[in-house]
Amino acid sequence: MIKNTEKLSDARTIFLETFGCQMNELDSELVQDQLAALGYKFHPDRATADVVLFNTCSVREQAENKVLSRIGELGVEKNEGREVVLGMLGCLPEREGKRLLGKYPQIDFICGPSELDHLPTMLHNAVAGERLSASDRSALQGNRSRRSAALSPAGDNLELLDLARAFNPDHRRTTEKSAYVRITRGCNKFCTYCVVPNTRGAEVHRPPDAIVEECKQLVTTGAVEITLLGQTVNHYRYTHGVALNEEGKEVPQVGPNITVFSKPVNENEHVTTFANLLKRIHDEVPEVQRLRFVTSYPKDFGNDILEVMRDSPRICNYLHVPAQSGSDRILKLMNRGYTVEEYLDFIERARTIIPDVEIAGDIIVGFPTETEEDYEATCELIRKVRFKNNFVFHYSPRPGTVAIDRFEDDVPREDKRRWLNSILALGGEISGDVHKQYEGKTVDVFVERLSPKTTKNASVELKWESGKVQLSGRTQGDLICVFDADSEESAKQLIGTVVQVEVTKSAPLLLQGAICCTCE
Ligand code: SAM
Ligand code: SF4
Repeated sequence: MIKNTEKLSDARTIFLETFGCQMNELDSELVQDQLAALGYKFHPDRATADVVLFNTCSVREQAENKVLSRIGELGVEKNEGREVVLGMLGCLPEREGKRLLGKYPQIDFICGPSELDHLPTMLHNAVAGERLSASDRSALQGNRSRRSAALSPAGDNLELLDLARAFNPDHRRTTEKSAYVRITRGCNKFCTYCVVPNTRGAEVHRPPDAIVEECKQLVTTGAVEITLLGQTVNHYRYTHGVALNEEGKEVPQVGPNITVFSKPVNENEHVTTFANLLKRIHDEVPEVQRLRFVTSYPKDFGNDILEVMRDSPRICNYLHVPAQSGSDRILKLMNRGYTVEEYLDFIERARTIIPDVEIAGDIIVGFPTETEEDYEATCELIRKVRFKNNFVFHYSPRPGTVAIDRFEDDVPREDKRRWLNSILALGGEISGDVHKQYEGKTVDVFVERLSPKTTKNASVELKWESGKVQLSGRTQGDLICVFDADSEESAKQLIGTVVQVEVTKSAPLLLQGAICCTCE
C-alpha cells in the first residue's frame, strides 16, 4: 500500500460535491485545503475530473437518495470505460459501512467524517491503482467509541485538519469573507430520530486557545464573519488541565456528562464555558464584525450566554434553536429532554435579555404516532414563538436510530404532506409579520453577495423590479436584506462589509431597502 502522498497527485483534478449541513461544508473546505496542499487541483466539472468525491449526508433519506443516484451515474460511466476515481466521504459511508463497496463496485474508497485525516492516503492509493481489500479502502470510526472516557484527551487526529486550515492561510480562498469554525464535534444527545451521534460519534470539545487562534488566523486571510459550529453549541465546556499532549499542550477532550449543565460551575475547576468562549472571541478578535453560532439546544442555555450576547455588539442577535415539535408527548418520544413549557420559558428569557433577538428553528412533522392534536400543538407553539423562519422536515426513518427500531413509521404520507404544507404556510404568515416590523427602520447588513436577481438565479423570485445591481446580505438577526448598488464595481466593493440599510419594503423571508452609508 502506498503511503507517500506526493508524487501521484501531480496534475490530478478533483470534483468535490457537498451535501447536507454546515458541518459538511466545513469538512469539505478543510478537505479541499488538505488536498490542494498535496498538489491536487479542484475542478468544477464532474464529467472531466480525474477524481470525483461526494461528501454525503445521512440525516434524511432524500439526501442519501440524491447521492446514490450520482453514484449510479458514475457506475454507468465507468462501465463505459471512463477512468475516474470515485470516493465517498461523510455520514452515509459511516452509517452503511463496508457493504457499500460490495453494493456499488464503482466506489474506490469510503471515508467517514471522523476519519478525514486518512483521506490523502486513501486517495493516493486509489489514484495509484492499488488493488486493496475492502478494509484497506475504508476509513470508518465504526465501534471505536470514545463515549466512556470522561474528560480525557479525545485522541483524534482530526484536530490537525482544523489547525492546518488556520495555520496555512495560503491555502484559503482569500475572497471569502465568511468562515465556519468548529467548536465541538459529534453529539451526545441521542434524539431518537437522529443518525448524527452514530455517524459523527461522541462529542469532542476543542481547546479554546485553538479556536481563538483559528479565528485570528481567519481574519488575517479576509474573514469578517465567523459562524461557530456544533450540534449543541451551548453544551461547549472545556475543562483545563485534564487533556494534554506529551508537550503539555491542551488537546480536544471528550464532552462532559450532560448532567453538569444543571449545576453551577465548580469554582475549583478551571473551565471555559460557551459564554466564556463567545466573550473571548468577541474581545480578542475585534476584526470579526459578525460572530454567529449554530445550533443551539433549548435546554442548558444559561443566562450567562444571553448576557454575553447582549453586551457584545458584534455577536449576532440570532438563535437557531430547533423545537422539533410543540407536543410534549412527541418531544418525549423524540428524547429531546425538554417540555413545551421549558422551551417557551427559554424563548421568554432570551427575549427579555435580548429584546431584538430573532429566533429560527427546525420542525419534524409526522413523527411516529403523531396525531392531529400533536400537529395542532406544534402550530400553537409556532404562533407563540413567532419564529423568523423554521426548516420543516417530514420524519424520515433512519437505520441505526432508536426510533426506527422502536416505532412504526405509521403516519400516512398524506397527513405528513398536509401538515408540512400548512406549517410552512403558517410560518410564512408569521415570517411576513416579523419582517414587516422592520419597515421604516435602519438595519446593519453584512453584505454577502450579488442578489439572485442580479445573478439571474430564477429559483428565487424577488418581487421588485429595478434596473440597478442588487446586493443581498443579512441583518444581525439573520434576516435577508436586498438593496441596490450604483454599479457592479461599487457592488463588488461592498461585499464583505457591513452597511446601513433603511428598510422600505418587506415580504416573508425578505427585506428590501436603500443603503444609507457604509459602517466601516
Ligand atoms: N443538532 C441540531 C439540533 O439538535 O437541533 C440539529 C442537527 S440535525 C443534523 C438537523 C435537523 O435535521 C434537525 O434539527 C431535525 O429537524 C432534522 N432531522 C434530523 N433527523 C431527522 C429525521 N430522521 N427525519 C427528519 N428530520 C430529521
Ligand atoms: Fe441529532 Fe439531537 Fe444531536 Fe441534534 S441534538 S445532532 S438532533 S441527536
